[in-house]
Parts: sequence; structure tokens; C-alpha cells
Amino acid sequence: MSQKYSTRAEDYSKWYNETIERADLAENSGVRGCMVIKPYGYAIWEKIQAQLDKMFKETGHQNAYFPLFVPKSLFEAEEKNAEGFAKECAIVTHYRLKTDEKNPGKLIVDPEAKLEEELIVRPTSEAIIWNTYKGWIQSYRDLPILINQWANVVRWEMRTRIFLRTAEFLWQEGHTAHATKQEAYEETERMLGVYAEFAENFMAMPVIQGRKTESERFAGADDTLCIEAMMQDGKALQAGTSHFLGQNFAKAFDVKFTDSEGKLDHVWATSWGVSTRLMGALIMTHSDDEGLVLPPKLAPIQVVGVPIFKTDDEYEAIGKKFDELALKLKALGVSFKYDHDKNRRPGWKFAEYEAKGVPVRLAMGPRDMENGNIEVARRDTKTKEVVSFEGLDQHLVKLLNEIQNNLYQKALNFRTDNLHTVDTYEEFKTRLSKEGGFYLAHWDGTAETEAKIKEETQATIRCIPFEHTGEGVCMVTGKPSKQRVVISKAY
Ligand code: AMP
Repeated sequence: MSQKYSTRAEDYSKWYNETIERADLAENSGVRGCMVIKPYGYAIWEKIQAQLDKMFKETGHQNAYFPLFVPKSLFEAEEKNAEGFAKECAIVTHYRLKTDEKNPGKLIVDPEAKLEEELIVRPTSEAIIWNTYKGWIQSYRDLPILINQWANVVRWEMRTRIFLRTAEFLWQEGHTAHATKQEAYEETERMLGVYAEFAENFMAMPVIQGRKTESERFAGADDTLCIEAMMQDGKALQAGTSHFLGQNFAKAFDVKFTDSEGKLDHVWATSWGVSTRLMGALIMTHSDDEGLVLPPKLAPIQVVGVPIFKTDDEYEAIGKKFDELALKLKALGVSFKYDHDKNRRPGWKFAEYEAKGVPVRLAMGPRDMENGNIEVARRDTKTKEVVSFEGLDQHLVKLLNEIQNNLYQKALNFRTDNLHTVDTYEEFKTRLSKEGGFYLAHWDGTAETEAKIKEETQATIRCIPFEHTGEGVCMVTGKPSKQRVVISKAY
């Protein structure tokens, strides 16, 4: 029997959790705030990783790996960074357990196995990496260093949500070292550009590129650039960040180099990251009340084939047609699955692939065979058409492209419809509570006004967009404003 699931309109948050469950992407685990990413969810993450990894390499980066633990003395070297992450770190204090003599079968921490120095489970790796770079950099010839790491990190988040905010998450963190401020700044911008391109061209998710306000900056950065995306409930999700770290870490770890004229200077740095939060972004941007909707470029299965048959002969004949198609699609680089399972009925399979967001579903029965046709169903528009088996492979390639573009356009239209320009604080407050969405408004640039908006409306300044609309006056204080900022409620 079909189960009743929540719709987006009824309960967005429940819908989000059920979409994840129905598509079999991930589940909560026995560890507070930590998730299990299941095979289908992990396959999507692997597609995300593969594409980003390619783009990082195309921009000159190499992968490396650094330790999970950061000795406390290194962790605290860059004060602002340490202070920023201090409230959410996991700390290793001991290295051994022993049997509890009073309570056989139970283990207790062995007080004799206390570490001389505590280890912090990395919430981010600047400290351990800059301590390492110190040994790698002497002269300008050693620069730039362009390294990325794929890893897990731990941030002891109090309110967790699967993919969006977990205590342990998977991510990539780029850490680069440069001889000049300009070069480091260009790198910060370049990598934000890579994230924006990935979000738009692969996730089919439009993003606003901009700069964080001083109070939202990464701890230890001089500047934080970000991409912000609008989810279907009108809330913002910070989808990626790229930090200009100035010479802060080089100074904290004493990393100097001699330039081409023999002068000694501290090295300039950047760091940038995206995480498994992108999975949440993907789900909340495109999915509908029937389940997941995936952009073809990130779908582990792009096309699925389902046979409709009664007799063994029909099953055999249809299977042969699908095998023929599979070969052609393989040659074209389309990932195709033929679901030949005899124990599941077609209706069950249709619902299953719909919940899993497979972009295109093919169905073929004996009558289609006779007529040389096949039924092609699109997940994004839920439309069906009967097309000729002749030239089907090329038709599918075009269709996948069309679906990719349609998803982007749909998300962009939604964002356009929910991006409002407001000039008064009253209008902002009224519309925010009624309609949600993003607001372009003038702000006087002070932390006080920013805090007031947050306290009174729970909305935050998401970013100071690069694309700006001219000067004006702050909607709250009436003081001069250099440009409009993007304000909204956020995940
Ligand atoms: P940050 O190092 O704080 O700039 O974060 C890098 C990336 O990880 C950003 O795209 C964040 O949105 C994302 N991120 C931060 N905290 C979490 C978390 N608890 N769970 C998942 N992703 C996160």
C-alpha cells in the first residue's frame, strides 16, 4: 500500500527527512549528530567529488592528506581561529581504556593513560597544515603551494540536521600559500568562481556570489567570500566559502620566505571548502512531493529501463532490446540501469525510481516492441512520450541536457520570484514573515544594525553581493549605505 508522505507545503522539514529516507540516501546513526551515508547517497556524493576534484586539478591543485588530530598547542597558535572553533571541538584526552574492576564487563578510561598534550579532532585543518608548510617554504621558488584535502571534520554542533549540519561531515578543504597578497586574493576569488560554476552547471542551482560581513567571517580570515542558494522554502543555504587568510596563519606559525630580491616576508594564504551540506542543497533545490529530483549531471543512474511483460518470451525479447540500448548508451557516456528484476512489479519500480530522482525512465512492453517504440518518462516534468526505438540513444542525450537546463531555469525562476527589493524596515519585516524569500536592502555597514536585524527578525545578512545596485540609505537607521545586501532566514 502506498504510504502517505508529507508534502512541502504541509511540513517542509518533515518532507526533507522523508525525501532522504524514501530515496535511501542517509540515516541518523547511533552517534549523536552523526549520519550514515547509504550507498545511493554516497554515489551522489562521489559524483560531486569527482567533478569538483577535476575542476580543482584543472586550476592547478593537487590532493594531499594531513592528520585528523591537531595538538592543542598548534590549535591555539592562531588565536582568532582557535577562539572561533573552541566552542565546538571534540578533544582527545586519553589513549586507553581498562576493565572496571567494580563492574566487570564494563570499560573505564584508564587514568594512567592520560595524554601529555590533548589532541583536538580537526574542525578545520589550517593549524596542522600551516605547521607543516613551515617546513616546506623557504624561498619564493617554493611558492605557490596549491593543495586540496578530501577529509572528514568534526564540529560539535548543538542542533544538527542530516547533511545540512552534522557533527562529523565530509568535505574538501583547499589550503594555498602565495608570495603576494594579490595572488592570494585572486586565488580566493578563483575558487569561489569554481564553486559557483559547479553549483550552477552541475547542481543546476543558481547562487549569489558575495562577501560575508565581518561578524560572519571565518575565524582567522581577513575576508570570506561565499555562494548562497535559495531553497524551495525561501530560506538561504550557505553552499560554499572561500577565505582570504592574509598573513594570519603565516605569522602564527612563523612561515616566512625570501622573495626574488632576497627580502624576508610572511606568506599569504587562502582556504576554501564545500561539504556534504551540498547534498542537502541538491535535495532542497529540486525535489518535489513525490521524492528526489536529481540533475542528470549528478545522477548516479541517469536512465532506467523497466520491462513490462507477461511471458518469458516477452521478457527475453524486451531484455535483448534493452541490452542493445545499454551498449549504445555506454558508448555515449550515459549511465543506464536495466531493472530486470522479475520479483518486483513495474508499478513498484516506477515509484521507486521516482523517489530516487532518476531523471529518465524507460518502459517497454510487447506492443511497444511490435511498433518499434518505447515510453520515455521525465522525472522533472512528469511528462511521458512514446518515441521510436530508432535513434533513442541520441534522443536521450538531448533529453538529459534539456532536463539539466530545465532544472536550472526552474530554480532560477523561483529565486527571481522570491528575491525582493525593499526600502523600509517595516516592509521588510512584514514581507519576511509573510512571504519569506531573499531581500535586497540597504544596510549601514555596522555590526549593531546587523545584530538588531538578526535579533528582531531571525534573518541574517547572507552576503554583500558582488553585483551591486548603487548607494542608498540603511532601511533600519537611515544612515548612508554603499550598496544593498542580501538578507534572509537561513539554514
Ligand atoms: P567553513 O570552514 O566554516 O567556511 O565551512 C566550509 C563549508 O562547510 C561551508 O560550505 C559550510 O557551509 C560547510 N559546513 C560548515 N559547517 C558544517 C556542518 N556542521 N555540516 C555540514 N557542512 C558544514
